[in-house]
Amino acid sequence: MKKIIILLGPPGSGKGTQAKIIATNHSYGHISTGDLLRALSTRHDLDADETKALREMSFGRLVPDWLIYKLAFAAADQYLNNNQGVVFDGAIRNISQAQVYQEYFFGKNLATEVLALEVSLPDAQSFLRLTERKICRNCGAIFALASAPGGLCANCGGALISRADDNIDVVKKRIQEQGNAALEPLREFYKNQNAYSAVDGRATVDDVSRQIETVLAAT
Ligand code: AMP
Repeated sequence: MKKIIILLGPPGSGKGTQAKIIATNHSYGHISTGDLLRALSTRHDLDADETKALREMSFGRLVPDWLIYKLAFAAADQYLNNNQGVVFDGAIRNISQAQVYQEYFFGKNLATEVLALEVSLPDAQSFLRLTERKICRNCGAIFALASAPGGLCANCGGALISRADDNIDVVKKRIQEQGNAALEPLREFYKNQNAYSAVDGRATVDDVSRQIETVLAAT
């Protein structure tokens, strides 16, 4: 199994859920740049550039690359320097990022350890899932509205809330900026490196996970 698993996929494709499963199953580190950015945005010691960069999230746009590198590479160093594998979840969303990450992996002698794995989903499905999604305020578990009656988390009983950027206007923008059209150059980039696979994200969580395990075992 490759040491660097890069999960690609449109918003709402289930990357986050699958990244957690892979990390648990294989004792890999899990780096979600979305989570790192949301954690950063709760801090009170941000400088003006960071505050400005984080504002992009509320419009459904990508935050500037420099902030992604700062957060993701610091987190990745901790795992990779201890020889642990890493699942990158939503951490690479444009070609410049793909190139700079590749240089980072090269610097760690891990350039041949990369697998980009897309959890594929049509944009229309992405829209439906995001506008119906609920997140547990306590444990971060993700639910479809229909599967969360009573508004409480099935795992821990915590209150379910909507993510701030899951409202309709921001979702439309996110799909435009991070959906299938935006993913195409990334698919090409990793196909050219013989490091691309895809699974069908329309299936159930367990099915997608099984598909992923099959791909991982073959690499
Ligand atoms: P996510 O939780 O993965 O859906 O990400 C939430 C938001 O964080 C995205 O809509 C972007 O604004 C921002 N973001 C997360 N990862 C990246 C990235 N690799 N590059 C740029 N922006 C990102």
